[in-house]
Amino acid sequence: MTPDLSVVIPVYNEERGLPALFARLYPALDRLGLNYEIIFVNDGSHDHSVALLREQFSQRPEVTRVILLNGNFGQHMAIMAGFERTRGRRVVTLDADLQNPPEEIGKLLAKMDEGYDYVGSIRMRRADQWWRRSASRAMNHLRERLTSIKMTDQGCMLRAYDRHIIDAINETKEVSTFIPALAYTYAANPTEVPVAHEERAHGESKYSLYRLIRLNFDLVTGFSVVPLQWFSFTGIVISLLSGLFVIYLMLRRLIIGPEVQGVFTLFAIAFFFIGVMLFGIGLLGEYVGRIYQQVRHRPRYLIQAVLERTE
Ligand code: UDP
Ligand code: MG
Repeated sequence: MTPDLSVVIPVYNEERGLPALFARLYPALDRLGLNYEIIFVNDGSHDHSVALLREQFSQRPEVTRVILLNGNFGQHMAIMAGFERTRGRRVVTLDADLQNPPEEIGKLLAKMDEGYDYVGSIRMRRADQWWRRSASRAMNHLRERLTSIKMTDQGCMLRAYDRHIIDAINETKEVSTFIPALAYTYAANPTEVPVAHEERAHGESKYSLYRLIRLNFDLVTGFSVVPLQWFSFTGIVISLLSGLFVIYLMLRRLIIGPEVQGVFTLFAIAFFFIGVMLFGIGLLGEYVGRIYQQVRHRPRYLIQAVLERTE
C-alpha cells in the first residue's frame, strides 16, 4: 500500500525536543486525514534520542519508521538515507527541533494539489540569531549569482517533493550535496510558500560557524563551477597586469636607471597575489577533495538498524 505522504526527519542529539515534536507532529498529520508514514533518521546521536525514537516507534508502529545510522553523516546524508526508504506519493522534509511548525505541512500539500511538483518555503520572521540571518542572506545572494537555482530561502528544510523528484535524487549517488538545490534541479514546476518559523525550543543548533561554511561549500561546489572560472579569470587579469608592470620596470631601468625605492609596495602587491593564489589552491582542493570522495565509491552512510513493521 502506497502512503499519500512520507515525512522525513533527521535527528541528531535532539532528546530534549523530541517529546514536543511527537506531541505536535502526529496530531497535525492525523488532522490532514491522509495515509502517512514518518521516517526518523537518527544521525548518530549520542544522547537519548534513540531510546525516545524506539519508544515512539512502539507507540505508533503503523505510521512510524526509524532508521538508525552508524555514525554522524550530516543532515543532508541522513535525509538521503530517509529518502531511499520512503514509499509515499509525496515526501516532506522537516527539522526535528520544531523550528518548522508541523502544522504548516498542509499548506505545502495544498500547493502541490495546484500542480507544483516541488514546494519550498520561506521563513517568515525567521527566529534565529542575527549572524545566522545575515550569513544566510549573503549566501542566498551568492548562490543566486553562481548557479541557476532560483530560491528565496535555501536554508529552510520544510519542503515538499513529488515522487519523481525523490526517485531522481535516489539515483544521484552524491557523497556531498545540498538537498534543496538538488531537488530544484530535478523539479519541473517548483514554487515556494511562506511558512511560520519558531525559535529552537530545546537544545542548540547543530551548526557551528565551521560546519555552516562546510555546508555552503557543498552547495557552491556541488552546483556550480563558476568559482573556478572566476579564479582563472582573475589569473588572466593579474598576469596581464604584471606583464605590463615588468615592461614598465624594464623601460624605467633603461631610461632612468635602477630603483630600490618602492620595494615594500612591491612586497605588498606580491603578498596580495600570494593570498589570491592560496585561496585558489584551496578552492581547487575543495573540488578535488569532493571528486576524490566520490571516486572511492564508499557507502555514503551506514545503517545500523531499521525499525519498521513488517507486513
Ligand atoms: N541534523 C542532523 N545531523 C547533523 C546536524 C543536524 O541530522 O549533523 C539535524 C538536526 O537534528 C535537525 C536538523 O538537522 O533536525 C537541523 O539542524 P539544526 O536545527 O541544528 O540547524 P539550524 O536550524 O540551526 O540550521
Ligand atoms: Mg534548527
